[in-house]
Amino acid sequence: LSEVLEHEQDLPSQTPDGHEMPLMVNTGLAVDASALLKSRIGGVGLYRTEVPFMITERFPGEKEQMRMYREQLEGFAPLPVVMRTLDIGGDKDLPYFPIEEANPFLGWRGMRVTLDHPEVLMVQLRAMLKASHDLGNLYVLFPMITNVEEVDEAIRLLDRAILELGEEGIAVERPKVGVMIEVPATIYQMDALAKRVDFFSVGSNDLTQYLLAVDRNNPRVSSLYDALHPALLGALQELAQDAKRLNKPISLCGELAGDPAGALLLMAMGFTSLSMNAPSLPKVRAAIRRVTLADAQTLLKEIMLLDTPALVHEHLNQRLDEWQ
Ligand code: PEP
Ligand code: MG
Repeated sequence: LSEVLEHEQDLPSQTPDGHEMPLMVNTGLAVDASALLKSRIGGVGLYRTEVPFMITERFPGEKEQMRMYREQLEGFAPLPVVMRTLDIGGDKDLPYFPIEEANPFLGWRGMRVTLDHPEVLMVQLRAMLKASHDLGNLYVLFPMITNVEEVDEAIRLLDRAILELGEEGIAVERPKVGVMIEVPATIYQMDALAKRVDFFSVGSNDLTQYLLAVDRNNPRVSSLYDALHPALLGALQELAQDAKRLNKPISLCGELAGDPAGALLLMAMGFTSLSMNAPSLPKVRAAIRRVTLADAQTLLKEIMLLDTPALVHEHLNQRLDEWQ
């Protein structure tokens, strides 16, 4: 079967009833873009900038960052590359920037760190803008957003970086800006967020952890950690409906997007793209090419009536077996 799936990699990720579901990739370290581009992808849905920062000995400077970002942007151009600003804290510490806290996942993480250190964010934003100035495929994504003021402040810094570069003689256009939906509070602020940003990207790994109050890395409670929990499915469906009403694209870049059953449900909900680790592309593409949107929507309706994660999994497995 895997050989068959590999053969389908240059075929559209389209359902038999003609619904196109763009598949994107998550990247971190320097990637061989040409290898990834052999399969038909919609671009990079999540470039985790903290990953290259983890293997340096200090914060990389503007020139060094520019080189890293240029490689991604150029490698995938003209396809979009969604670059997330530094998302450290939680479980992701930089050796040269240790953060010690009793509850790191509820502490100084993502945007909270970079807004407290605008000098770090500014270098990063300047490097991204410079790297993309003649390519135009940069999308900027802000992680761990809780309040709209954080978005306003981040955009203010982005605009300042654009202004600075203009004064230095480098004309850059304002890239499209998005926020991660991964703190449950953002589920209830979609209208306010939509006034400020161009797109949404759901981080289901953290949204699962925070909605269910289950540490994503603690083996003791790992049986409770489930992105297909009915509460998560309800939240995801609402998010997709809100994004549609607000006329904004909504992607999902957590592990759930790389699970064929998860991907079908997200498609049925109305997610406009999915971003996953490259090894998941073949199986997700295969599922989309074999199941009609109408069938996926029927499945979603059935699933939304179920009360427990176990029932959800059982029902999904049964349907997926039938469709194989
Ligand atoms: C997520 O939270 O789902 C996500 C994509 O980001 P990360 O796994 O890097 O926290
Ligand atoms: Mg996250």
